This record gives sequence, C-alpha cells and structure tokens, in this order.
Amino acid sequence: MARIVMKFGGTSVGDIERIKNVAQLVKKEVDAGNEVAVVVSAMSGETNKLVDYCRQIAPMHDAREYDAVVATGEQVTIGLLALALQELGVNARSWCGWQIPIRTDDAHGKARILDIDTTLMLERMAQGQVPVIAGFQGIGPDNRITTLGRGGSDTSAVAMAAALKADLCDIYTDVDGVYTTDPRIVPKARKLHKITYEEMLESASLGAKVLQTRSVEMAMKHRVRLQVRSTFAPDTPGTLVCDEDEIVEKELVSGIAYSRDEAKITLVKVADRPGVAASIFGPLTAGNINVDMIVQNVSDDGKATDLTFTVAKGDLQRAVKLLEDNKESLGFQSLMADSNVVKISVIGVGMRSHAGVAQTMFQALADKSINIQVISTSEIKVSVLIAEDYTELALRALHTAYGLDAA
Ligand code: ADP
Ligand code: ASP
Ligand code: MG
Repeated sequence: MARIVMKFGGTSVGDIERIKNVAQLVKKEVDAGNEVAVVVSAMSGETNKLVDYCRQIAPMHDAREYDAVVATGEQVTIGLLALALQELGVNARSWCGWQIPIRTDDAHGKARILDIDTTLMLERMAQGQVPVIAGFQGIGPDNRITTLGRGGSDTSAVAMAAALKADLCDIYTDVDGVYTTDPRIVPKARKLHKITYEEMLESASLGAKVLQTRSVEMAMKHRVRLQVRSTFAPDTPGTLVCDEDEIVEKELVSGIAYSRDEAKITLVKVADRPGVAASIFGPLTAGNINVDMIVQNVSDDGKATDLTFTVAKGDLQRAVKLLEDNKESLGFQSLMADSNVVKISVIGVGMRSHAGVAQTMFQALADKSINIQVISTSEIKVSVLIAEDYTELALRALHTAYGLDAA
C-alpha cells in the first residue's frame, strides 16, 4: 500500500465526461489498496474567464477580491469530482483550501504556502475516505482566501504530498511527460524518462509551464517523488523528477525552454559612473518590478553608455513610466521599449563539465540569421533574447543542433 497524491490539471477536468474519466483513474488507485488524496484545477478556460471578469471591472483590481473571484473555479471541480467518485461507490469528500486549512502568507494573487494542517485529512484517509482538494487556493493571515499564482495547483499538490508524507505525487496533465521542449511547438521533441530537480526547476522558471516553478522548488526541498503523466494515456509511463544520481544516462542539454513574457528596455546614453545602476534599478525594485537580463557596455569615451534590460511584459508600461518620471535625475538621453521579444534558454547539468554549449547555440542561431539581442548564463543554462517572430524557428534549430530530435 502506498500513499499517493494525484493532481489533475484543467484539461483533464475540462468537461463532465473528463471528470468521470478522472474518477475512474482515482478509483483504480483506491481499488489497488492505496491511500489517495486528489488535488484538482478549475475546468480548462475557467480561470482565464474569471481573471478577465476582474479586468473588465477594474484593470488595477483589489488583489483580495481578485482572489475571491478566481479561486471559485476550483470549488466547482472538487464538488463535481467528489460526486463522480460517490457515483462509483468511492467514499469521497471535497475540501476548499480554508477548510483544511492550507495557510498562506498575505501576498494575494501569488501567495506562498506556510503550513498545512493534516490532522483531519489523515483521520479521514485512515477511515478510507478520499479527500478531493481545491488546488490554487489557501487562506491568508487575515482569514481571507488567497491564490498561489497561475499554475498554482501543481504547488498545492506537492505541498499536500510533502505534508502528508506521501510516497508519490502524480501530476496528471494533457501531455504524457516532460519533453525536451514544448511538444506543441517542436513536433520532434522527445519525452524524458527522468529529469533532475535542478533542470526541471530551471526549465519551469525559464518558461516550461508543465509544472509551476514553486512546485518544483518545494519537491526538491522536501524530496517529494514527483511524476508528470497523462490523464488520457494513463498506462504510458511519464517522467520522474528526481535526484541527479538516479539518472544513469545524463544528457549534456536536457531541454530548451522559451518565455514570451519578456519585454526589453534600453536606456540610451546613461552616465558611466559609479552608482548609476543602483539609481536606475532602485525605483523599479521599489515598484515591485523584477528585472531579469541586464547588459551594459563599456563606453568608448568613458562618459556615457547604453543600458539594456528585460522585465515581464505585464510590467513594461509601469517600468517605462517610472523611468521616464525620473529621467532627469537618472540622466539618460532617451528610452526604447520593445515587447516583441522572446527568451530562449538551453538547460542541462552537463554544462558544468562541458565547454562549447553556448557556442553551439550561437552558431545554430547564426545559421538561421537570427540576431541575438541579449545573452545571460548561469551554471546550468544559457539564455538569449531574440525577436519573438523567430520563436519556432529558433526552438527547432536548437533542438536539432543539440541532437535532441526524436528518431
Ligand atoms: P495543466 O492544465 O494540466 O496544469 P498546463 O497547460 O499547465 O497543464 O501544462 C501542460 C502544457 O505544458 C502542455 O500542454 C505543453 O504544451 C506545455 N509544455 C511546455 N513545455 C513543456 C515541456 N518541456 N514538456 C511538456 N510540456 C510542456
Ligand atoms: N486554475 C489555476 C490556473 O489556471 C491553477 C492551475 O490550473 O494550476 O492558473
Ligand atoms: Mg498547469
């Protein structure tokens, strides 16, 4: 007997037939003698719809009320799945985040889980009941509903698995595992049987939305065995996210991720003197705007230089306004903004011990005449910023260049 957390994403519970299908999958694990807890997302498209409702009423909406609205999608699916399970003779009960409770901080819209009280849950599970838990939501210090950021049900599932000390956390989705790159864009993408926590963490934070970044962070910290697998082909083996020493055949590059959520700002002729970067990024930090890639050149006359950096697309307008408002004190000549960019990243733990990974990337892009605007690297990844129109071309070229194409 094992204790398993099964998480089902939006497409997996997208309509009534699919919810019935999920109930069958849960029943199968229960019949095999396992102790099961289920975490579900909202039906596909629901959260987008709810977010849009908030925007239509108030573009700069109150985050507490936004959470009150967007958390409702999951409440529908827990009730429906509990009903579907009961119809199959499975003892099941739905749980909203606040009923457990799943306690979070007060960062509405992107809250972090602080604590999960499992007493009641373990009691019911020991009696043979299957809890069906709403993903994406918790309760904040002021007793108001919070949400965990888009894709947050993955994090709910991993947090539940850690708190329940589950043997396995199965993330059921609409692909049958983690691929070398997004299989919807590169048809030759290959499924990985295993991937390290570190590589998955980089891939997720660099744009692969198959798992929310925080869910991987949490799995890594609490050593949760995490598996990505398909709801629609449940007998196909998925991808296990695990420690490096569990992987025998290590690849130099395990994946290529992309993020369209980037925008580039260039400040032309910024004074080249100590303290300038601090004075430019200070107001952005104060405005809660994250800066990602940064390049600054040495100036040829020692007086002025150009400074380029990227921010999230959604923050572009605010960033530009903050900078323009401080133009005089910051002392730049002009500002250029461009949201027609994409960040492409190659990821692999093998990079630690092998040279030439970046060069392969630069050459492959050069061969397709794709201009690189910004480059950044870390121990296990190389990222470049290019024009968004070349996303697909670049992904496919790089996938081939690193020998990742499926046979
Ligand atoms: P769910 O609703 O089940 O949470 P998501 O849409 O959040 O599903 O995540 C699954 C999607 O992630 C896939 O449909 C796929 O298009 C996308 N994806 C992006 N990169 C990858 C990758 N490297 N491997 C697998 N899927 C990926
Ligand atoms: N329903 C939420 C979203 O669409 C959470 C999730 O699906 O993981 O972002
Ligand atoms: Mg998701």
